[in-house]
Amino acid sequence: MNITLMQHSSLEVCAHAIRTCWQSFDNSDDGGEKDKDLINRVGNKFKHASTLEHLTYTFYIAGVSRALLQELARHRMASPSVKSTRYTLKELKDEISFTDGMSAVELTEKYTNKDEVYADKHMVRASKYLVWTDELIVDFSSIVALENLRLALVSGISNDKAKFCLPESYKTELTWTINARSLQNFIALRSAKAALWEIRDLADALYQALPSEHQYLFNDCIAK
Ligand SMILES: Cc1cc2nc3c(=O)[nH]c(=O)nc-3n(C[C@H](O)[C@H](O)[C@H](O)COP(=O)(O)OP(=O)(O)OC[C@H]3O[C@@H](n4cnc5c(N)ncnc54)[C@H](O)[C@@H]3O)c2cc1C
Repeated sequence: MNITLMQHSSLEVCAHAIRTCWQSFDNSDDGGEKDKDLINRVGNKFKHASTLEHLTYTFYIAGVSRALLQELARHRMASPSVKSTRYTLKELKDEISFTDGMSAVELTEKYTNKDEVYADKHMVRASKYLVWTDELIVDFSSIVALENLRLALVSGISNDKAKFCLPESYKTELTWTINARSLQNFIALRSAKAALWEIRDLADALYQALPSEHQYLFNDCIAK
């Protein structure tokens, strides 16, 4: 997956929002250590967490599966704008076969070791569209589904109908805006061992993409 932080608000804005309550603007140090302590104390320790909503982040998230997307979409306190299969499936029409007519079982029998599999030219081409799980029978089933989708599109079926046979592993991308309060909730829930492995990777990648001076607000949310 590829995560890009496109924009974020400054700590100074959040500190200013907090200081509005007490009209203590004179104590500001323009987003420095004093402001950072204030945000942590009020937003986290005193649970006046709505003040954290003044900190927003916009990420571009690419190369994640639609399986992950449906979990991400459950986080209502965030705004996603997602690549539309309705408009973009034509990207598959110019591709040649991904399977040379083989079934998932036949593909499993074709290789003697795993390294060969993911280096195969068809698998490399398919990785532009699919997230691999590293489980061969699952990934071969995905590539067969991709091939079926490609054949449906080549036969002239409209994107609107063809999209119903997309595998869950099909890659998507989105612009995602979320505030710090909701991102804390997201990271706490989705870094936990019980969460899907791909969304755990996403939670970690989002944390890593944050400006380093903001990360302290999220350190206690990461599941150990
Ligand atoms: C490990 C794991 C397994 C899961 N398994 C399933 C599953 O099997 N099936 C399934 O359907 N979902 C499942 N979920 C999704 C889960 O139920 C939540 O929908 C998802 O995690 C979003 O969390 P949220 O509601 O806290 O986030 P948001 O929607 O972003 O909401 C943020 C916060 O706002 C408040 N809030 C938002 N809306 C309301 C509301 N209507 N009323 C009151 N307060 C509100 C809550 O405090 C909430 O925590 C799973 C999640 C996890 C982490």
